[in-house]
Amino acid sequence: MYSVLAYYYIGAIEDPQTEVLRHKEFFQTRDFKGRIYISEQGINGQASAVAAHAEEYIAWFEERFGKALFKIHVSHEHAFEKMTVKYRRQLVAIDCEVDFAQKGESISPQKWKEILEERSADSLLLDVRNDYEWKVGHFEGAELPQLETFRQFPAYAKQLKETHDPKTTPVFMYCTGGIRCEFYSAVLKNEGFEKVYQLEGGVIGYGLEEGSEHWQGKLFVFDDRLVVPIADDRPAEAIATCCYCHTSHDVYYNCANMDCNALFICCISCLHAHQGCCCDTCKQGRVRPYQENAKPFRKKGTIA
Ligand SMILES: [Zn+2]
Ligand SMILES: [Zn+2]
Repeated sequence: MYSVLAYYYIGAIEDPQTEVLRHKEFFQTRDFKGRIYISEQGINGQASAVAAHAEEYIAWFEERFGKALFKIHVSHEHAFEKMTVKYRRQLVAIDCEVDFAQKGESISPQKWKEILEERSADSLLLDVRNDYEWKVGHFEGAELPQLETFRQFPAYAKQLKETHDPKTTPVFMYCTGGIRCEFYSAVLKNEGFEKVYQLEGGVIGYGLEEGSEHWQGKLFVFDDRLVVPIADDRPAEAIATCCYCHTSHDVYYNCANMDCNALFICCISCLHAHQGCCCDTCKQGRVRPYQENAKPFRKKGTIA
């Protein structure tokens, strides 16, 4: 069995390039696959390995960077195709300065669950993930903004002030593993929102600690598993639908038209009938040969 790790560290790294090399050296003698980005701002990682190696890595990492919140899923295979350790100028690509001293208050999964049950009507439960993520699953009653990339959040934060009083509206924000909230909560505070709270460890952490109560659907993850239940306490339903026949379905594909490549949700029989294309127009263009068992979705360079 494999451990799939999701973790991050926010803190100054003076020489990220050297840290990249240190990581590569550590992985050289161990069977790791994943995506790890290292910047002057910190480290954002996702990786899979056999449990013993994963434990060695966690110990090695925490010895050097202090206690980090490692979220661990179990999987019967690697969750990534290969191992990538890279320098990145920004840990989360939002293209603006972030003052981490100004971030929101972290809320434990346990407290988060209580808040979901007791929060006042004027509070805002905000899903800060992209639209293709919340389409397959989200917390009940969450605001679901139409964001396609991380970069759109700062503009959205400005817009939010027009509909919600930043001085009085408590904002409870969440993302997949918590790292986007580290950035976005600071952006919201910078816009004048005074009561900003973020789910510690994100949806992954909530699922691991509290189960799936108050969650609808499944969780989009940035690895080969694509869409996973957040917990195994009850069967997770599909809340999205096939774009053709509208039956319940939540598996993503990239359009087989090479000039489109759009993500769409499709059932197997419709996918087959439409040769892997997202719409009829796409069928007329440069279409990749239809493959029944193609890995459904690889979005390059995104990480949560
Ligand atoms: Zn269908
Ligand atoms: Zn298309």
